[in-house]
Amino acid sequence: MHEWALAEAVISTASQIAEKEGVKEVTEVKIKVGELQQIELDILEFALSQIKTSKFENAKFAIETTRAELRCRVCENQWVFDKEKLDADTAEAIHFVPEIAHTYIKCPKCGSPDFEILKGRGIWLESIRGMK
Ligand SMILES: [Zn+2]
Repeated sequence: MHEWALAEAVISTASQIAEKEGVKEVTEVKIKVGELQQIELDILEFALSQIKTSKFENAKFAIETTRAELRCRVCENQWVFDKEKLDADTAEAIHFVPEIAHTYIKCPKCGSPDFEILKGRGIWLESIRGMK
């Protein structure tokens, strides 16, 4: 149930920012989720709608996924992971278990499966909007 923990973190962080900025009513919260993060967006949205405080009563939660960036440990080539190029089954498998990404993804330059993930994991608050 880590979507609920993430939703709590989002609400608590957004509340702190709203407090600091003197925002009385939040109208929009922009959230970015890394493509390789194991997360069910539907559950996250549901969790957000359930635990939001009165400050977020009319807030819209905009959740966007962001592309993963990878770097080869052998030749130091950096590239952006394109999920579209994988077949549906593989994309699903990677979605659920990012650790197996190394089996499917190889450096497009030298073919090495030894790479690190620079971006594409985690969830963060992009911005909040509201009325003062
Ligand atoms: Zn390489």
